Amino acid sequence: MKGFINRIIENSFIDGPGNRMAIFMQGCNMACLYCHNPETQRMCTRCGKCLEVCETGALSIEEGKIKYNKKKCIGCDRCLEGCLNFSSPKYFEIESDELVKLILDNEMFLDGITFSGGECTLQTDFIVDVVKKVKKNSSLTAFIDTNGFIKEEDLNKLISCVDGFMFDVKAVNDDIHRTLTGVSNEVIFKNLKILAKTELLYEVRYVLVEGYNDNIEEIKGLSELLKELNDYTRLVLIPFRPFGVKTHLKNMLPFNREKYDIIYEEIYKILKERVIKKD
Ligand code: SF4
Ligand code: SF4
Repeated sequence: MKGFINRIIENSFIDGPGNRMAIFMQGCNMACLYCHNPETQRMCTRCGKCLEVCETGALSIEEGKIKYNKKKCIGCDRCLEGCLNFSSPKYFEIESDELVKLILDNEMFLDGITFSGGECTLQTDFIVDVVKKVKKNSSLTAFIDTNGFIKEEDLNKLISCVDGFMFDVKAVNDDIHRTLTGVSNEVIFKNLKILAKTELLYEVRYVLVEGYNDNIEEIKGLSELLKELNDYTRLVLIPFRPFGVKTHLKNMLPFNREKYDIIYEEIYKILKERVIKKD
């Protein structure tokens, strides 16, 4: 079975517990205004625009497909900036067995693997295939980093084979959620509540974006939501940063630290140690 992968970070300490191989899948079903990896959102339309900005000849078109030559690439990322389709000429197809081999070759250095993106659950069958083979041959754990906009049948498949979920909540209010992401949060909250009843909801992630989801109603709603979900899921509170952002929010300043600390203290009153600070 084949999967589409944007990039693989062989050792990551920020994508779940311990040292993990983070596998960033290509393709997403949202279009978040503050996305830090916008080049993972869409599949390539083969428009050829990126070829015009690459000065090293690392990109070419062969048989209608974009070909990426890693040896000629200097990592300037002009191709990513030049892609109007929120895609990348560098993503690649990989057989599940090849990915399994890469993971198992690194097993002794790892605590586990994390599938991220993009929205990795759009390639659930590929993930399940990889996870089953990895677990058959190692004690590595498998985590899913998701926006929560998951089809019911895919969620069930993942629940049956992975060890944890890191789940984004972008906004509690549906109108704000639609503004930030382009979709309603109805399905997302349904999935969140399903996961909260398992032991798999490792953490919820919330990015504070000035003027969007940092108002008092949102913060109260977020705290209450987490409190009612269960008694173990942690909430990671992340301040917005413009790094990598491709929409008009790229001109926004990083989230104000004083305001961040005030919001953190408010949430702490309700969730105590379950709320985690981020620099
Ligand atoms: S990566 Fe983007 S710019 Fe390059 S061919 Fe694909 S869609 Fe066009
Ligand atoms: S990052 Fe993109 S534009 Fe820059 S050299 Fe590599 S392929 Fe070319």
